[in-house]
Amino acid sequence: MPDRWREIPPTAGLPLRWRDFLPRAGANVLESTLAGILDVPSVQIECSGTAALVIAMTTLKQMSGRRSVVIPAYTCPLVALAVMHCGLLPVVCDLQRNHFDVSPEALEQSCNDDTLAIVPTHLGGRVADLNMVSAVARRNGAWVIEDAAQSLGATYQGRPVATLGDIGFCSLAVGKGLTLYEGGVLAARDENLRQALRETSAQAVPYRAAWEALRLAQLFAYGMLYRPGGLRLAYGVPLRRALKRNRLIDAVGDDFPPSIPIHRVGTIRRMIGGNAAIRLASFLAMLSEQAIARKKDLERISGLTVMGDSHGNDGTWPFLMVLMPTARARDAALARLWTAGLGVSRLFIHALPDYPRLAGKFGTPDVTNARDFAARMLTISNSPWLLDRDFATIQSVLAGVIDAAA
Ligand SMILES: *Cc1c(COP(=O)(O)O)cnc(C)c1O
Repeated sequence: MPDRWREIPPTAGLPLRWRDFLPRAGANVLESTLAGILDVPSVQIECSGTAALVIAMTTLKQMSGRRSVVIPAYTCPLVALAVMHCGLLPVVCDLQRNHFDVSPEALEQSCNDDTLAIVPTHLGGRVADLNMVSAVARRNGAWVIEDAAQSLGATYQGRPVATLGDIGFCSLAVGKGLTLYEGGVLAARDENLRQALRETSAQAVPYRAAWEALRLAQLFAYGMLYRPGGLRLAYGVPLRRALKRNRLIDAVGDDFPPSIPIHRVGTIRRMIGGNAAIRLASFLAMLSEQAIARKKDLERISGLTVMGDSHGNDGTWPFLMVLMPTARARDAALARLWTAGLGVSRLFIHALPDYPRLAGKFGTPDVTNARDFAARMLTISNSPWLLDRDFATIQSVLAGVIDAAA
């Protein structure tokens, strides 16, 4: 295929096969495969990661009078929206310098006797420091809700993430690995809490035929178009249009829905997801091998950092998070690579307080490190369709812009 028709997706989603649309997997294969990956007795499927978080916080809110939820200053804006949707107060916590994880000092300062929950976030497949967060949570009497939206399959000291806090959730949205087009997974260690989460869902989540029909059509379109030839149309064209108009938030799909859709996931989408889920573990293993080799290659360029995991933790690799030496170097790299069809992109555009739609929702927290991280980070897809020669092109552009700045 000519290169100008190819478009590499910015994250390594699990491609569907046409046979996934045939009734092969039994009714509960999705749930049982995910419960197996997470090593818990059962999981709960919701219509998005955001909806799963809403169910989690709604459940905890009923059990406590506390009303603040501490979230990282650099995360998916939907997380802040979910907190507000529940009538709770989002408190943003700055990151460590040059890192995706929250700063222990800032976390301690963000917590008090109103803190209902802390949301440690395994950003982009990387594993957050759960020991540190648990200690702060315990001191403050808060629950821990692990955001493993982008990290299904990652492990912390040998245990699956999303199962180490009190509650955890993963996303099954398009672009996050295994997908139902939109979907979420809820897990909890404690049987009583699992029961409470099921009850909240039974009470609060309606069946909506129109939403389900739309999602099924979208999942079908994903199945058809999620390949280098189809993604030019489905991803590349809208991306180029958004960038031409300088609409960065639209370009990465960080834009906000007017409200959070909450509805049941139907049996057909669960079945399709179940058929695909069987391939997830081997797909993740292949991605890990590719990413670790490419991370090493990139690290030969002096001045840039690739986010990794600390000893004993084993994340997943939807993409590589690359921290450039300066915002100028990052922007220069993106000017050449963002629309090159090579799967180079940005994650979330801003630190949370800098989204126009969220302005003023958090008071005036110090988010210096989160802002700096947002300004210097770019992502390189870990899709298997990104060939070695594509990767070499990216490497030489990155080395070139760093050289030019030096
Ligand atoms: C995508 C994402 C979410 C939300 O998940 P959806 O399934 O898109 O609702 C939450 N947190 C993080 C870190 C995410 O990347």
